[in-house]
Amino acid sequence: MSSTDAILEAIQSGASGDDLANLPLPESYRAAFVKADEQEMWEGVESWDKDPRQSLHVDEVPLPEIAPDEAVVAVMASAINFNTVWTSIFEPLSTFGFLKRLGKESVWGARHDLPYHIVGSDASGVVLRTGSAVRNWKPGDRVTIHCNHVDDQDPTAHDDSMLAANQRIWGFETNFGGLADLTVVKANQLMPKPAHLTWEEAACNALCNSTSYRMIVSKHAGDMRQGEAVLVWGATGGIGGYGVQYVLNGGGIPVGVVSSPERAELLHAMGVEHVIDRREKGYKFWKDEHTQDESEWRRLGKDIRSLIGKDVEMVFEHPGRQTFGASVFVTARAGRIITCAATSGYMIEYDNRHLWMKLKRIISSHFANYAEAWAANQALIDGSVVPLLSKVYELEQTGEAALSVHHNEAEGKVGVLCMAPTEGLGIDDPEFRDKVGEDRITLFRRMA
Ligand code: NAP
Repeated sequence: MSSTDAILEAIQSGASGDDLANLPLPESYRAAFVKADEQEMWEGVESWDKDPRQSLHVDEVPLPEIAPDEAVVAVMASAINFNTVWTSIFEPLSTFGFLKRLGKESVWGARHDLPYHIVGSDASGVVLRTGSAVRNWKPGDRVTIHCNHVDDQDPTAHDDSMLAANQRIWGFETNFGGLADLTVVKANQLMPKPAHLTWEEAACNALCNSTSYRMIVSKHAGDMRQGEAVLVWGATGGIGGYGVQYVLNGGGIPVGVVSSPERAELLHAMGVEHVIDRREKGYKFWKDEHTQDESEWRRLGKDIRSLIGKDVEMVFEHPGRQTFGASVFVTARAGRIITCAATSGYMIEYDNRHLWMKLKRIISSHFANYAEAWAANQALIDGSVVPLLSKVYELEQTGEAALSVHHNEAEGKVGVLCMAPTEGLGIDDPEFRDKVGEDRITLFRRMA
């Protein structure tokens, strides 16, 4: 039996932490990665036509030595995030530059500078080894992993760690990501796994859930108050689907935008009353590549008012170039536009008169600091937020899974089984699962 099979068997038979710590680690493990020598493979090809199935490979890679503040985790499941799409299509730039820069920082950083980049910024699994400086975790702990990779010896990391000079996203700006059978992470990325969720349900949340928590709830970004209305673009997407849950939980009024009747129905089933189907409405915010159409912004504003009787105090903004002008326009006087991304293009245009004359604010947000990621994980543990898992792939199908996200074919989150041999494993607290509600937990799996 291979050492990876022995580890899986031990996990499934409920072996103790000591037993797991005594099992040998394999010298190599299965992982999904892109190759440095393929960075130029798509010169002149349109983004849409770049197919992650060609650039994402699944094969054996050597297991690196761990630093004193790190842990090796057996990854039971992982998930696709949009950053894996960006890495796999080498846009807006190749991620090998990030690895080179990290490689220059320290001896431990140098391990990351390799001719392959193991991707993936979400995972659930079991701790197998901890470095000598790790105090709060031990082999056998069942965990999920958040992707904020910061150096806690850097003073700039200690107010809001998202402001740290060397803040990175694990599996995007670092190597040894979560789409693999094993991963190497900083111990401060570990969080307790919600005991009522399966491995794949637990694996799909941390990146998007934490991002949306900061955008909507945190004082560092949205700081939403009860009764505020929030326009959520892509409201059944990865971050949007957690965003609407935080708006509802906080006593706000979500106005969800989606692009199909099926997605509208899904939103209603989540308890979102006010939904706009942008495809049905046919908004054309851009007349051509260079000119926006204010009358179309106005039409969206009218549609929002006809639903909720007022303008939105906040916009949850991430599509970027296609929507940003409209987002600024429809925000109420003194309202705020919270932006964390620019899927449709990052060279943004909006009419500044609508911003300054009405004292609106654009607030940037990026992932979440350690405390925010824990607060978002606690919401999952408490059952006040539920996973958005809609589809599950095998690790070998990582490219196919990434393509479905790239082409906006997936709702919520797309999971990937790594060591877990099948779906449905890993539930440690079935009573609490019943209390949270099977229907709520599996809504996207059933309806999407
Ligand atoms: P996702 O699961 O693909 O969902 C995005 C949703 O946005 C889609 O479901 C789609 O919904 C909507 N959308 C796409 N293009 C649009 C357009 N041109 N106009 C209006 N709506 C559009 O992706 P995600 O995980 O939510 O991530 C969204 C973006 O945020 C990505 O660019 C990602 O890289 C970024 N992100 C940033 C952070 C951060 O920390 N800064 C964290 C997570 C994600 P409909 O078609 O139904 O309208």
